[in-house]
Amino acid sequence: MKKRYETVVVGGGIIGASIAYHLAKAGIKTAVFESGEIGQKATRAAAGMLGAHAECDKPGTFFEFARASQKAYQRLEAELKQISGIDIRRRDGGILKLAFSESDRERLMQMAVLDSAEWLTPGEVYEKEPYAAKGILGANFIQDDVHVEPVSVCMAFAKGAKLSGADIFEYTPVTSIETGPGAVTVKTASGEAEAEHAVIASGVWSGVFFKQLGLNKRFYPVKGECLSVWNEGIPLNRTLYHDHCYIVPRHSGKLVVGATMKPGDWNEQPELGGIEAVIKKAKTMLPEIEKMKIDKCWAGLRPETEDGNPYIGRHPENGRILFAAGHFRNGILLAPATGAMITDMILGRPVKKTWEEAFQAERKEAVNR
Ligand SMILES: Cc1cc2nc3c(=O)[nH]c(=O)nc-3n(C[C@H](O)[C@H](O)[C@H](O)COP(=O)(O)OP(=O)(O)OC[C@H]3O[C@@H](n4cnc5c(N)ncnc54)[C@H](O)[C@@H]3O)c2cc1C
Repeated sequence: MKKRYETVVVGGGIIGASIAYHLAKAGIKTAVFESGEIGQKATRAAAGMLGAHAECDKPGTFFEFARASQKAYQRLEAELKQISGIDIRRRDGGILKLAFSESDRERLMQMAVLDSAEWLTPGEVYEKEPYAAKGILGANFIQDDVHVEPVSVCMAFAKGAKLSGADIFEYTPVTSIETGPGAVTVKTASGEAEAEHAVIASGVWSGVFFKQLGLNKRFYPVKGECLSVWNEGIPLNRTLYHDHCYIVPRHSGKLVVGATMKPGDWNEQPELGGIEAVIKKAKTMLPEIEKMKIDKCWAGLRPETEDGNPYIGRHPENGRILFAAGHFRNGILLAPATGAMITDMILGRPVKKTWEEAFQAERKEAVNR
């Protein structure tokens, strides 16, 4: 007999896991089908910055959505610990976006008008982070752009969903989704399931389902390469950030250093040249990093869309199908708000009109960043 669910989620990265958590907690009988293991693809590669300000130059719909998601983490940290027993390892300290040139300074000072961003003089920066490279012209300090450990968050969502009644099937790739009058049929390598709703949350691999369901939306990977090093004794309490390169101090004592941006590259192995480029940039922010021991190197595929914004919402012609994919550089940040928004849509609760319009599949223009 076919299994029957209220909602099936395709993909068990942080986006699918958050959706399953929010749905199951609301009492919706949910299943997640995951090709491999939970949280192993882009989610595992991420640094975990909740960079609402770092990723937006100006206020607007995207910033508002990102900020709501960032704030949700404050509640989720304790909630997920209590429900799942997993610590998401949220670390305070914030981000210092360093200015090395006049043009950096001008741009970053303008950004300091966003709430919770503050411009610091060089002296103030060195007071906070004495090992930051000499010669900086100041920094934008964003206290609220804290970070978490992405795999811990994803595991906590998945375990929380399971404990609220969700079924999670690993090593179960979905091959197709068919919609009939009364239900959606989700076909997998090991059988079929029927559901009232299906949510596509398959990261950069979502394009195949969009196509099957009659929507011509292109997803492409932007490969990012990172490494982690053992920090033995340099006090670093805040993320250092410049020119898309960052050094994130994790609770474990390791520093995560990233990341390259290689559009169109589907290969998930890090390359020597990419790691070399990241190290070079990291040394310009924290010269002492040169002496640190390498822990490991890795790469992941950021799921990018044509206009740079995720698709979160219903299929324009089929209300049983929903999308939550294409979160590019911000899936960790946006996971809580995405999970809540999809759940609200399925339950028929009100959703902010501006968010619905900005992230729907058939939007007219890209939301400003
Ligand atoms: C180097 C790097 C650094 C990053 N740093 C940050 C950061 O600091 N902060 C931030 O917010 N974001 C960051 N990101 C972005 C973030 O990692 C992604 O936006 C996020 O992980 C996307 O989550 P996802 O669940 O959509 O995709 P994924 O994590 O890729 O998960 C998709 C899942 O779908 C599964 N799947 C695919 N096809 C099928 C199928 N047919 N059937 C079943 N399952 C399927 C896959 O196996 C996978 O597990 C970073 C990304 C990279 C690569």
